[in-house]
Amino acid sequence: MSKTWRPATQLVHGGTLRSQYGETSEAIYLTQGFVYENSAAAEARFKGETDGFIYARYGSPTNDMFEKRMIALEGAEDARATASGMAAVSAAILCQVKAGDHIVAARALFGSCRYIVETLAPKYGVECTLVDGRDLANWEAAIRPNTKVLFLESPTNPTLEVVDIAGVAKLANQIGAKVVVDNVFATPLFQKPLELGAHIVVYSATKHIDGQGRCLGGVILSDKQWIDENLHDYFRHTGPAMSPFNAWTLLKGIETLPLRVKQQTESAARIADFLADQGKVARVIYPGRKDHPQADIIARQMSGGSTLVCFELKGKNAAFALQDALEVIKISNNLGDAKSLITHPATTTHKNLTEEARAELGISAGTLRLSCGIEDTDDLLDDLAQALAKVSA
Ligand SMILES: *Cc1c(COP(=O)(O)O)cnc(C)c1O
Repeated sequence: MSKTWRPATQLVHGGTLRSQYGETSEAIYLTQGFVYENSAAAEARFKGETDGFIYARYGSPTNDMFEKRMIALEGAEDARATASGMAAVSAAILCQVKAGDHIVAARALFGSCRYIVETLAPKYGVECTLVDGRDLANWEAAIRPNTKVLFLESPTNPTLEVVDIAGVAKLANQIGAKVVVDNVFATPLFQKPLELGAHIVVYSATKHIDGQGRCLGGVILSDKQWIDENLHDYFRHTGPAMSPFNAWTLLKGIETLPLRVKQQTESAARIADFLADQGKVARVIYPGRKDHPQADIIARQMSGGSTLVCFELKGKNAAFALQDALEVIKISNNLGDAKSLITHPATTTHKNLTEEARAELGISAGTLRLSCGIEDTDDLLDDLAQALAKVSA
């Protein structure tokens, strides 16, 4: 693997381990364990004196290829592949806190992420303060001497707000806290949290990295010291390991990540502009548009827009009417898929929040989140136009 390869090349060749057969496509090593030549070899492996695998809960060859490819793309030193995005988020946070510690998190989080910091961590004596992450002053005001972790997602789900990652990292460094960034919406192509000063990056690989709706997966990336000192033992002994079959599926997915994300983003940008011109659309939020409320931060920290568009119709009936009239675009709460998917957050992904909490996040009864797929953009535009025509004004 060459460090100088550009991302698209890393994603096809990075981390490849070939067996004695010299297979072109990566092999799937569906094995729980590994055999040793003799007793001394087993002893040396367990002592860490020789390289090699011990047990698939700790690591295995197909997972190793996936981790190395993600490391190359992200510019990290080390990684662990996990069974799902939530396994990655929960491990990345819980492995580094103890009772008496404090977490500050942006309130605009994926629902399950919010459960980890708001409900689960406090059960173990770890307090959490949720802040409006758009304003650095709120982070600064919430930080305490015992704050260990600052956790954020940017852009956020579903309203595509952004957080100034470099600004939050600067605050964290003043007290030796770690910044964990859930980088799912930006994708590893459009935002590099480690370069911006964050310490740990997590992904749900279920989204753009698979990109074809097949399997769950996640990954945690950071520097070697943080992984050795915090995640290594936690990961081995709590068992969030990814299935080698899923690691293989994701290795195949990631080869085409740049092609898919390029097409999805071009469609999203055209769709955002189209929707902004429609009288029945009250508001469009898209990180690639100049009218995004935080366009200045986006220009500083992202190299591309988004594969997602958030927009608002006038109420729930209009939102449901549009969704129900769509033919190409499917109603589903997943995202980053080759298929275009639309969801109504207030009644699905964000239904567990109070109406007040939804209002704080800018989610109204008419809000819709569209994840653009890789279909022909003109077919998506035609589909939205015919569906909008069926929405009463
Ligand atoms: C989907 C998602 C997760 C959780 O990932 P799973 O693979 O479903 O466990 C976490 N964060 C964000 C931003 C997501 O979109």
